[in-house]
Amino acid sequence: MFSIARTATRVARSQPVRSWSRFASSISDTPAEGDLEEGEVDPIKQYNDPNLSGTPSPWAVFDAWGAGDQIEARLSDEEMKILDKEAVAIPFASDPSTLISADVSETEILETYDKLLKRRSSVHFGYPYNLMYDHSELHPFMKYSINNLGDPFVTSNYGVHSRQFEVAVIDFFANLWKIDKSDYWGYVTTCGTEGNLHGILLARECHPDGILYSSRETHYSIFKAARYYRMDAKSIGTLPMGEIDYDALEKELSKNLDRPAIINVNIGTTVKGAVDDLDRILRILKSLGFTRDRFHIHCDGALFAMMMPFIEYAPEVNFEKPIDSIAVSGHKMLGCPMPCGIALTRKSHVKKVEQKIEYLNSVDTTIMGSRNGQAALYLWYSLRKKGVEGIKEDVTHCLETAAYLRDTLTSGGITCRLNDLSSTVCLERPVDEGFIKRWQLACEDDIAHVVVMPNVTREKIDVFVKEFQDVIKEQGRILPTDKASPLSKLMSSSWGGADIAPVRDLKAE
Ligand SMILES: *Cc1c(COP(=O)(O)O)cnc(C)c1O
Repeated sequence: MFSIARTATRVARSQPVRSWSRFASSISDTPAEGDLEEGEVDPIKQYNDPNLSGTPSPWAVFDAWGAGDQIEARLSDEEMKILDKEAVAIPFASDPSTLISADVSETEILETYDKLLKRRSSVHFGYPYNLMYDHSELHPFMKYSINNLGDPFVTSNYGVHSRQFEVAVIDFFANLWKIDKSDYWGYVTTCGTEGNLHGILLARECHPDGILYSSRETHYSIFKAARYYRMDAKSIGTLPMGEIDYDALEKELSKNLDRPAIINVNIGTTVKGAVDDLDRILRILKSLGFTRDRFHIHCDGALFAMMMPFIEYAPEVNFEKPIDSIAVSGHKMLGCPMPCGIALTRKSHVKKVEQKIEYLNSVDTTIMGSRNGQAALYLWYSLRKKGVEGIKEDVTHCLETAAYLRDTLTSGGITCRLNDLSSTVCLERPVDEGFIKRWQLACEDDIAHVVVMPNVTREKIDVFVKEFQDVIKEQGRILPTDKASPLSKLMSSSWGGADIAPVRDLKAE
C-alpha cells in the first residue's frame, strides 16, 4: 500500500483524508456501494463535503488518473488493433472493402477505447489539465441537448438551456476578479482561445487603429486573433524566464505614440508559466503618456487567472486596475472534462459588437452561435463543490508539489526551473521520444515542461524522475541546440535562482 503524499501535506485538513489506497489493487472496478467497512468514508462520496477540495474522477479512487504512484498497464498490440483506423472506419455500403470493419462490434471498440483513455490519463503529465474530478452526478444530463445559443443574459426562444448556471459561473468570476455586477459582461466559451479571440475583437472594436503588443512567448491564439482581424501586431522579445522584455515593450510603444496601444498581458505563459508584470506595464504606459482612452489591456489568464487570486502575496490582476478583459480556460485548473472557458469584460465594450438577431430572440455578442450548455453546468458544479477554500487547496497543492518536482529533478541531476507563482516546471528535453510520448510531455525545441495539476502526486513524480534518470543512463541527454535556445536560457544564471543542476559536465567529455 502506498501513502498519499498529497493529502499528507495538507495538515490543515480537518476531515479524514481520502483513503483511496484501499482500492489500489483493484484496478479495473469502481468500488461498489455497500463495499465499505463500518466507519470507513466512501472516497467518492466524501467529496460532497465542501471542506474537501478537488473532486476526483471516479477513476482516481484506484489511481488511474494519477492520485498515487500506480500506473495503468499499456494496451496489448491486439487491443491497439481494435482501435486502429481500419477497425473504427465507418463502413460505406457501396465500398465492400470497408465492410471488414464491421468485424469488431462498437461495444468492443468502446470498451477498448475506455481502457486506452484510462492508461493515457494515468501517465499524463505535460498539459495543464486537472484530471481530478467526479462528475457522475452530472452524467444524466448528457441525455439533453442543452444549448445556450446567443447571449447568456438574454434568453432565446430555445428553452433547453443552462443560462442560470452560466450566469452563476460568470458572477463567481466577476467577484474573483473584482468587477461590479452592473459593469461586467461575460460568458462561458468553448475554450481559452475563444476568450482570447473575444477579448482581442473587443479591443479592435474599441480601437480600430490600435496596435497589438504581446510577448514572443504568448500563446499562439493571440497572434491568430491579430491575423483574423487584420490588426497590426508587434511580437516583443522576452526575458530569459519568459516574461515580456519591458524595455523592449517601452521602446516599441514609444515609436508609435500616435496610435492606441492594445496589450495582451500573459498571466502565465504556456511553456514557462511566466507572469508578465501588469503593474510595470501600466507604469510604462503612464510614463509614455497613454491616457486610459488610448490603451486597452487583455489578460490571457488561461491557467493562472484561476490560481493567482488564491496565492498569498501574488500581485493582483483584476478589474480594479485599468484592464479590459480576462480569459481563462475551464478544463485546465478547474478540471472540466470538455474544453471550455470563461471570458469576462466590461459591459460598455460589448455594446460595440452587439447585434439583435430576430431568429434567436437574443442578441449576438459571442463568437460562437450555439454554445455548450453542458460546459456551463460542469463549471458551475466544480465551483459549487470546491468553493473558494477548495480551489485554494488545489492551488496550494499545485505550487507545493511543483516545488517538490523541481527539487527532486535537481537532486537527481536533471536541469530544470520553476518560475515564481507557477506550477509549470521547465526541464531539459528527454532524448527518448517514447518517454516523452508516454508521459505526454509538451516540448519546445530542447526543453519540455511538466504542469503540476491537482492530480499529480509526489509518488507519481518519483516514478517519473526515476524513469527519466534511466533514460539518461541508457541514452544520454540533450545538449542545447544553440546559444540562444530555451535550454541555454534554462541553464543561464540570468533566469534567476542558483539552485540548478548542470546539463552536462562539459569539461569531463
Ligand atoms: C492553454 C492556453 C491558452 C488556450 O487555451 P485553450 O483552452 O487551449 O484554447 C491560451 N493561453 C495560454 C497562456 C494557455 O496556456
